[in-house]
Amino acid sequence: MVRDTLSRPLGSLRISVTDRCNLRCRYCMPEQDYVWLPKESILTFEEIARLARLFVSLGVSKLRLTGGEPLLRHDLPALSGMLAGIPGVQDLAMTTNGLLLAKQAEALYRSGLQRVTVSLDTLRAERMRDLARSDRHADVLAGIAAARTAGFGRMKINTVVMRGVNDDELADLIEFAKGQGAEVRFIEYMDVGGATGWSAEQVVSQREMLQDLAQRYGPVAPIESADAAAPAERFRLPDGTTFGIIASTTAPFCRSCDRSRLTADGTWFLCLYAARGIDLREPLRSGASDDEIRAIISQGWTARSDRGAEERLSVAQRGALYQIDALRADPRREMHTRGG
Ligand code: SAM
Repeated sequence: MVRDTLSRPLGSLRISVTDRCNLRCRYCMPEQDYVWLPKESILTFEEIARLARLFVSLGVSKLRLTGGEPLLRHDLPALSGMLAGIPGVQDLAMTTNGLLLAKQAEALYRSGLQRVTVSLDTLRAERMRDLARSDRHADVLAGIAAARTAGFGRMKINTVVMRGVNDDELADLIEFAKGQGAEVRFIEYMDVGGATGWSAEQVVSQREMLQDLAQRYGPVAPIESADAAAPAERFRLPDGTTFGIIASTTAPFCRSCDRSRLTADGTWFLCLYAARGIDLREPLRSGASDDEIRAIISQGWTARSDRGAEERLSVAQRGALYQIDALRADPRREMHTRGG
């Protein structure tokens, strides 16, 4: 197994299949217009599957499709089917905003996709209008219901918690998820790429969320995790309901991070905060052999020393990571290009 300089294994790969999105969430794509990756640079399904196979041969066992909005990519079930067929893939998941999920849930399930995470920041349609500039809240709920009907178990709901925006909905979201047979992951608002409006005051910390939920439900107990690399810490309420918190902003977990990210144009990022990625599209398209590409991946990971979120924690006057000009100069710095 390939390990980096901090002995972290190459375990999980997030594959962004497009940088386009049909929402404009305030914490991710708040600007009016964006610089998109050139169309001809976007990897084909065959190219993605080849890279995925090489990553898996080096130790990756978890794949997650993301974006942008992955369901905007035409015929995504064809790709999930190709990835599901790679020997060694133990977990094949997708993160989606759910807008287009209702129509595709069944085909995705049949293709071999194992798990779905749906991003849902509010249960109130009018809030979504303000937060994500969309009035398609009902489509997200329909997508969650359809995924369940299609057969997806262990569904997760991702909620980015922002002070004064949706921090009064924690319990409502837990109850909603329970009704859907799903589990919520509350995510601390992160100062990643596209979060140009980020400020520390808007972050609701894990500690605050736990206090809030303990007031409502009573004692909240941490759950021991068997998976040391899992980004979420999980908790149990007195009635047995479970939920998770991803505290990447106030309590980063870089020391156990086994995740890397492949953008839709084949740039490989070893950390969500990394300034630069490794170009895998060029060797892929210039005829490099499997062994040559494997060597690039293996050398890249072996040299990895990134601890992006921990380093951000030590920045005294912390603001948005990038200003808009820097993001326009290199769209790969955007969260919607890197994938979440
Ligand atoms: N479009 C898909 C979706 O909405 O789930 C996948 C891509 S999105 C970038 C992946 C995840 O990143 C989402 O759950 C989103 O809430 C999260 N995310 C984006 N910007 C974030 C930020 N500034 N802080 C924390 N999480 C963020």
